[in-house]
Amino acid sequence: MVIKTAEFVKSSQKWQDCPEPTMPEYAFIGRSNVGKSSLINAMMNHKDLAKTSQTPGKTQLINHFLVNENWYLTDLPGYGYAKVSKSLRKDFEKLITNYILNRKNLVNLFVLVDIRHTPQKIDLEFMQWLGESGVPFSIVFTKADKLKSGGVDRNVEVYKNELLQAWEDLPDLYVTSAEKKEGGDLILKFIQKTNDF
Ligand code: GDP
Repeated sequence: MVIKTAEFVKSSQKWQDCPEPTMPEYAFIGRSNVGKSSLINAMMNHKDLAKTSQTPGKTQLINHFLVNENWYLTDLPGYGYAKVSKSLRKDFEKLITNYILNRKNLVNLFVLVDIRHTPQKIDLEFMQWLGESGVPFSIVFTKADKLKSGGVDRNVEVYKNELLQAWEDLPDLYVTSAEKKEGGDLILKFIQKTNDF
């Protein structure tokens, strides 16, 4: 898919404030610092569409971008901040889970994980919840340029094996590097394929 236009639409504090669900929507989520903003910017061919490295603990918002005037890309707040209070963390969780469960036009959720790390409990629990809730999702490994290719393959295998302990089928997996602008094209292809753009 060629990105012709990508515009910021609005930030919402709750799912009810999101734009009218008139177009297919694809959301991106992951732990803070996973490289979500960088990947969105790389995919959209934009330097700073999504803000990189937002200060943890600030008001967390759902950000909508309209792409090619026919689909929404949603940047969801990062989960798992170690530094914020428990009650604030609960607020993030509520915001995210309500959005995911209520957003009618959500086609797929891309869950980002840093390729360098072993599977983290918080990500696995989140994916478990998505599976149980019947929410379609894919896994996107980020920062692949930080490992040699053997390391990338090894870590993907470790992740797959971990998932197969709980599931019979694996979700789609994407290996990406925002730095090298790699992998985002396959995500865009998937988005194209699941629609009639
Ligand atoms: P976010 O909090 O998930 O939006 O993460 P950011 O996009 O702000 O990235 C967090 C840090 O990781 C920043 O210092 C980025 O420069 C770095 N980063 C993000 N993506 C990549 C990547 O693909 N390769 C490398 N080497 N660094 C990356």
